[in-house]
Formats: sequence, C-alpha cells, structure tokens
Amino acid sequence: MRKILFFFLMLGALTSSAADNDDIESMVETLLSKMTLEEKIRLSYAQSKFSSPGVARLGVPELYCSDGPHGVRMEICWNSWDHADWTNDSCTAFPALTCLAATWQPELAYLYGRMVGEEARYRKKNVLLGPGVNLYRTPLNGRNFEYMGEDPYLTSRMCVPYIQGLQSNGVACCLKHYALNEQETFRDHVDVRVSDRALYELYLRPFHAAVVEGGAWSVMGSYNQYLNQHATHNARLINDILKKEWGFDGAVITDWGAAHNTDEAIFNGLDLEFGSFTDGLSTEAPINSYDDYYLGRAYLEKCRRGEVPDSIINDKARRMLRLIVRTAMSGNHGFGSMNTREHVAAARKIAQEGIVLLKNNGILPLVPKDNMKILVVGENATRSLCAGGGSSELKPRDEVSPLRGIKERFGDKCTIEYAKGYASGRTMYGKVDVLPQVLYDSLRNEAVEKAKTADYVIYVGGLNKNHNQDCEGGDRESYQLPFGQDRLITELLAANSNTVLVIVSGNAYDMPWLDKAQALVQSWYLGSEAGHALADIISGDVCPSGKLPFSFAYKLNDYPAHKIGAVGYPGVSPDKLPQPFGGEEGKPLNSARLLKAAVNGWKGIDFCALPGDGTKKDETEIYGEDILLGYRWFDYFKTKVRFPFGFGLSYTTFSYGKPTINGRTVSVPVRNSGNVAGQEVVQFYVGDDKASVIRPVMELRHFEKVALEPGETKQVSYTIGDDDLKYFDEERHEWVAERGSFTVYVGASAADIRGKVKYNY
Ligand code: BGC
Repeated sequence: MRKILFFFLMLGALTSSAADNDDIESMVETLLSKMTLEEKIRLSYAQSKFSSPGVARLGVPELYCSDGPHGVRMEICWNSWDHADWTNDSCTAFPALTCLAATWQPELAYLYGRMVGEEARYRKKNVLLGPGVNLYRTPLNGRNFEYMGEDPYLTSRMCVPYIQGLQSNGVACCLKHYALNEQETFRDHVDVRVSDRALYELYLRPFHAAVVEGGAWSVMGSYNQYLNQHATHNARLINDILKKEWGFDGAVITDWGAAHNTDEAIFNGLDLEFGSFTDGLSTEAPINSYDDYYLGRAYLEKCRRGEVPDSIINDKARRMLRLIVRTAMSGNHGFGSMNTREHVAAARKIAQEGIVLLKNNGILPLVPKDNMKILVVGENATRSLCAGGGSSELKPRDEVSPLRGIKERFGDKCTIEYAKGYASGRTMYGKVDVLPQVLYDSLRNEAVEKAKTADYVIYVGGLNKNHNQDCEGGDRESYQLPFGQDRLITELLAANSNTVLVIVSGNAYDMPWLDKAQALVQSWYLGSEAGHALADIISGDVCPSGKLPFSFAYKLNDYPAHKIGAVGYPGVSPDKLPQPFGGEEGKPLNSARLLKAAVNGWKGIDFCALPGDGTKKDETEIYGEDILLGYRWFDYFKTKVRFPFGFGLSYTTFSYGKPTINGRTVSVPVRNSGNVAGQEVVQFYVGDDKASVIRPVMELRHFEKVALEPGETKQVSYTIGDDDLKYFDEERHEWVAERGSFTVYVGASAADIRGKVKYNY
C-alpha cells in the first residue's frame, strides 16, 4: 500500500515538475515573441555591479546576484566594489565548502543549500554565485577553501544536493569557475593546457554532475584561458561541451570582468556579462555607461548590421528569460528567511561534522575540571574569519569566535586566559601589512611564558583571509604556516606538552612540529558558529567525524603541479616555447604522452616546448600530472603523505570486517569497537587490475557515513555501476570500460585500505 502511495506521490511530483517546465517554456516563448531586438540584447549585460535589467514594459523583472557560496554577501554599491554599509544585510555564515566536503554528508550539503537559498530569497537575490567546484591541484591556491577538495567524485556528490537545496527556493546557483581555474596567480589570463582525458575524468566531472544531475540554472565562465581563448567565451568549453554535449539550458555568466572580446562573447555561448571595465577588480575605471560592455552596444550594432543570426540572438535572450522566470518570476517559493534558529543550527551541525581530528595522543577530549587553567593562544581564536578572502566575504549577524566558544563551554569550571601569540595585520584586498619583528617576538614571548603555568594550552592559529593566505586574487607564497607560527608552536609545545593545536585553513601546510604535538585539530573556516562547533569537538560533546577532502603532502614539491616546475604551476611565458608538446597548437594535450613523461620522471622532456608564434605573451601552464591528481598521484608513485585523502580520527575506533561481493554488490560490516558513539566514513575505491592505458591504482566511487553506538555493527554496501569502471578514451571521445578484473578497495582513507574484493567485468 505504502509503495503504491509513494508511486502516486512521485508521479505527482514528476508530472507537476514537467508541467512547471512546460509553463516556464511557454512563458519564455510568449515573452520572447513580444520583445524588440534592443530588449533582447539588453538582457545580456549588467546594469550595476551585481544586477542586470529585465524588460519593464513586459513585466520582466531585473535579475539580482550575490556572492556566494558560504552565505549571502553584504550589499555592494550599485556601481563600485565598496560595501554599501547597510544595517540590515547581515547573514548566517555557513562553513566554507572545504568543511562541507569534509563532512562527507550529502544530506548536509542539501541542508546547506536550502538554508543559504532561504537567506538569498529573503534578501531578494535571484542568483547565488556558487558553489565553487574547481579541484585542489596545489595547496598554494588562495581559493581552495571555496572548493571541495581533490576528488571529482566527492565534489560531485556534494555539489549536486547543494544545488538542489539552493534552487528549491527559486534561487539559481551559479556554478563556478568553469573551467580549469585551479589557481589565483595569473588567473585573469593563464592559458591552461590539459589532455581531454584529465579534463573529462577530473576537472569537468563536478560541472557535469552539477548540470546533468543537479540541474544547475547558471554557470560562471572563469577568468583563465583554455586553448588560447578565454574560458568565459570559449567555444569548446561552452558551446561544444556545456551546451551541446551536456544539454545545459541555463545561462552562462561571466566571472566579473572576464569578458574580453565581442565576437567571442556573441558566438561562443556567453549569455550575461558582468564586471567589465574594472581595473584589477578592486578599483574602478570611470564608466559612464554599461552600454560599453562587450555584449552592449557593440553586440547590438552587429545585430543591426545583420552580422548575428537570429538563432543566436534568440538563444541568448531565451536563456536569460528562462533564468529570470525560474527565479525572479517564480511566485511559489515563499519569501525566504534570514538568520533563523534553524539556519544557525545548520551552520553549527555542518561545522561539527566537518572538523577533522588529525592527531590525538589521548589528550582529547578535554573534559572541564574544577580550577583547570586553560590558556588560549593564537590570533584565529579572536579574529573574524568571515571578513576578507575576496568575494566570499560575509557579514555574519553573529560570529562566535573560538575564544568565546571555549569560554562558554569551559568557563564555568575553568579559568580561561588568552594570549595572541602572533599578529597578521589588517585584512585588505591585494595588499598585506608588514609588521615589525619585535612585535612577533614580544607576542610569542608573552604566550610562551603564560603557557608554562597553564594546565592546558589550546592554540588556534593557521592561515586567515588576508591577501596571500586563503584569499581570492593571489596565491599563498609558501607551504609553511605564516606569521612566525612554526617557531611559536615549537616553543609552546616545549613550554607545555598539554597543548592542543587547532589550525584553521582551507589548505594543507607544513607541520615541522607535528611529532611533538599531542593533538591536532583541522578546523576549516567554520562561519557563524565556529567557536561553538570547535568547543563541541574539543570537549567531546560531539565526536569528531570529518575526513580530509584533500591530501596533506610532506612538502610542496611532492604535489606534481610543483614537482614538474614552473610550467606545472604557476605557468611560464610562451616566449620560451617554440614547439607544441604532445599535441598541435590549439588542440588538447595527449594524455598517454604526458603520463609516459610523468612515469619517466619528466627526464629529458622540455616542458617549455609549448606553442608560441611569438605574439602571445600570456603565461601557459601544463597540467602535466594529467589524470594522476592528488591521491591518484601519491598512490601511483607510492609517495607517502603526511595525512591522506579521506583521513580523520574519532574519539572511538572502528573495525572493518571482511568485505564480500554478491553479484555487483560489495558489503562490509563496520563495528564501533570503542567506548563512545561515533560516525565513520566508509570509502569504496575501484581500480582496474590491468588496463590498456595508465589508470590510477584506485578511484573513489562510493562512500557512506554511518553512525554507530559502541559495540554496534552495520553493513555498508556499494553496488558497482558500469560508469565506475570507465576511463575516458580521448581518441574515441567516449567512456570505456575494459573487460577483465577490477578490485574494490574498502577503506577508512585512501591510505588505509581495510579490505579488498575482486570483480570480474
Ligand atoms: C570572483 C567570483 C565572484 C565575482 C563577483 C570574482 O572576482 O572570481 O567568484 O563571484 O567576483 O564578486
């Protein structure tokens, strides 16, 4: 009976969404049929920093956008990047997307999207600029905190529900940054060269999932170039792949100031232009009229001269109308809500589940005891970590600092003292404060002295949202922690061995002090409820269950993007580049040749052998590690990492039984073998035992987070899908599974495989 009811409910849902789609399409066609050429063109470029016009005559409203992706940004001025300084634009700051990924909980991604969408709806924003789904290629990338790590499968599984939750409010996502925008250095022009195999197997995968499964309504074209053409109006990326191959029916929006050419914008699939004529995206060049945009007057005049086919004009207008009808004109999504208790609780829950316990010699959880003296050290214990970072900056209504969270949780019984320990200066876009060494010395000495007499020290440091840290518009300059923290941490550990280290970052970093540390907690940018969530974990009120969405290598050069030299990151000038490598100019690189070169340690290969007719001055970059990104590389070359992808400890332990296979279904019993309730992320990786091409040893294909009481056992299973066996054959331009034996690896991380089974395909 329940099944029948469910069937009818589903049928109802399907038919009503099909009817919705029909309604939307007929509304779009009706409007389009009534519009003049001028009105159609006017839909395709901005009228202010973050809005574009509708067609007032026909009742088509304007479109309002906001960053994204961790909350709804404060209001920005109409015609400049300045904050508008409204008093009613504070939001709930959700944890950064790295933290969301570290939860390994798609349900939380849906909740995140739904909550942030409610806030966007309330603020009358029709498009939320996010989520970011670029992959983690280098730990120096200043924007990794806005993305979801190194694995395309994990990123896909998390971005799809985020988008569905967000769009359920009638607020469009704007999936960014499409594509190959894996760094900030040279971001406005670097020309990325990559094989089709790496493109499809890795970098496009989350975008594909977001469009095809998530139903994304808009996509943001990135700043960089691909095959010598800006991504935001790149014929191959947008027309051929996004629109034709994947059937994307939404609008392609520029990144702000990413358009460079009217013809390419018209003919290569761009639908909406924002942010042009800004200088470095931080200062304004005078602009009298948005009509000067590439898709403004220049586009209109070309149309009037008959140089643009009607099909293109109508396609762009149709896509813009569809976006507006789906969002600004959708009446059935309520009014949204702001800073509700539910939103704040969701932010705390996501933060709790994303925090990763990296090391614990037993000092954690720290149970408050009478008269216990706790010293909190570190600037990140008190600094706002929602301010700065670039476009993802937020103005939270409340931001619970770690110091406040610790005081609230431990303050009743314990004495809490604070020492700053180091300083980092003001948060400024594109600039840094240089502070005097004497300041560092005095802050460090003060903290170390105080540490000697404390029962426990909780250190809260790491990176922050300043320029050259975790921040848009520039990358980090080194793998070390900044602001003299390695020395400070080393001295604190020597002064007091009861020290718990909490490092806030969206990136991996060097840890020369790790052997001496008792406990290390990886905190991401946790948003409004940061301090509460951290205190929940430190006190043991919540058992840690987050796992790393990217690998922490021992040193920067272990990451292949760096190992290969400047051509792998951040790119080299093509003046030095006489010949194509692995492909003709204008064509993707050849995966087999790249991999062969990588396997040979790039010996005798001149990576500067890239195109160059002498006219192009932009930096070119080769994704030379090809399909072997992140753990795929470390596994293949048996390189040990400090903390592997998928790693995270708990206050309990889990034992895995022997996995078995029945048909295509692999099952494994997982038992909580410790004393407290906890959650384990069980990971299933698949590897082709023998293939005609180089393949990663194994790739993540499924995961499940299971909650277990002490002594409880649950069966966790995974059914092998055909797609899970495939690689992308770039010659045939299709996905291929080869016959033969595959191994399913079941593990607690990419480097902690607890059992294997064979599967014959
Ligand atoms: C960023 C985008 C952002 C846009 C609008 C650009 O600089 O790259 O991610 O959405 O600005 O603020």
